[in-house]
Amino acid sequence: MAVQTVAGSTASSTPAVDLGPAAALSCRECGERFELGPLFACASCFGPLEVAYDLPTGSPEELRKRIEAGPDNIWRYAPLLPVPADVAEKPNINPGFTKLVKADNLARELGVTGGLYVKDDSGNPTHSFKDRVVAIAVEAARAFGFTTLSCSSTGNLAGAVGAAAARAGLRSCVFIPHDLEQGKVVMAAVYGGELVGIEGNYDDVNRFCSELIGDPLGEGWGFVNVNLRPYYGEGSKTLAYEICEQLGWRLPDQIVIPIASGSQLTKIDKGLQELIKLGLVEDKPYKIFGAQAEGCSPVSAAFKAGHEVVRPQKPNTIAKSLAIGNPADGPYVLDIARRTGGAVEDVTDEQVVDAIKLLARTEGIFGETAGGVTLGVTKKLIEAGVIDPTLTTVVVNTGDGLKTLDAVSATSQATATIKPSLEAFRAAGLGTA
Ligand SMILES: *Cc1c(COP(=O)(O)O)cnc(C)c1O
Repeated sequence: MAVQTVAGSTASSTPAVDLGPAAALSCRECGERFELGPLFACASCFGPLEVAYDLPTGSPEELRKRIEAGPDNIWRYAPLLPVPADVAEKPNINPGFTKLVKADNLARELGVTGGLYVKDDSGNPTHSFKDRVVAIAVEAARAFGFTTLSCSSTGNLAGAVGAAAARAGLRSCVFIPHDLEQGKVVMAAVYGGELVGIEGNYDDVNRFCSELIGDPLGEGWGFVNVNLRPYYGEGSKTLAYEICEQLGWRLPDQIVIPIASGSQLTKIDKGLQELIKLGLVEDKPYKIFGAQAEGCSPVSAAFKAGHEVVRPQKPNTIAKSLAIGNPADGPYVLDIARRTGGAVEDVTDEQVVDAIKLLARTEGIFGETAGGVTLGVTKKLIEAGVIDPTLTTVVVNTGDGLKTLDAVSATSQATATIKPSLEAFRAAGLGTA
């Protein structure tokens, strides 16, 4: 049997739930198809499932116009996402269409002449790219009748789930490693759901959530990055769509993306491939680069060693949002980096801090540690001659520096504290820079 069926529906007819153009789930390893549902692993080979579509047919011009006439958020791409057609009218956090900043000052500093852009996802409702993936997962949760929204999180996801659940009128109970940054903890707790700190690292949290899914306690729960993972992942495609639309419906030559589980990187590639297939952009080569912190660099280590499997690590880095030692999508990231002629690289925590300050100083953008990882790796790969400075390059800043203040607080303080008098100001030798 090629497709699992539920009572009252047949394998080849329309799915039992309305998730717009989403037609089925298909296994990334063996290709077997399953009816849309809260499934994440192939029943035959345990491979990860992803959403398969009946994509729009019409002309590219028609589709481009339809997208451009849509709302200024990810729902402008609803025809390419697993969401119902009326998604924009439902209570959701409506993320996306964040700024693509032409970073000319930074380009000058790094010697990039082909055009350097920062896709700044700190502008999302809860200040990270996670709002994109959660917004899609909320629609899947609604379609499957879940009443509680949950996740295992490295920090940003917990906040995005808390906010989206509050807005959608769902309960939320989210799980994080107990030792996260204050900014992440408060941003996750403020929305009023349950926030549970687990004594362990992210990989422990994730294992705990897998157990909870199999327990009666977890019944009716949609874990956005576990049993809703195929839908959740699709949210990251919108980064690819936006980057290309904002470049004037053009593929960039090089994109640098941070890696935690690797989901975002693999789905940005999927989004680019879809745009090519639909004729929305001209087909040409592009390179995808992955960025990790040295203290949690399982994918980078495998890339450099020429391995096809990723050996798990125990994370120890200030880039806590990327601290996944056993990344689910690691092998797919390796495939994409190698297929596109890109690379995966890592930087030290010190280089992360330097890169956060470089972006702030040159472009007025305060990124979180993940952003520092991505720009740090970009700089390193330009210096190594791996990223070509004469080509169009996009660096994805996935989160807001206000959530990871500790990374820079020691070296970012008031220049001086003085009495409120000109005399004191002059005496301190200030204002002459
Ligand atoms: C979660 C996260 C990522 C990476 O996500 P994956 O899809 O798991 O690789 C990158 N940046 C920030 C700020 C995040 O919170």
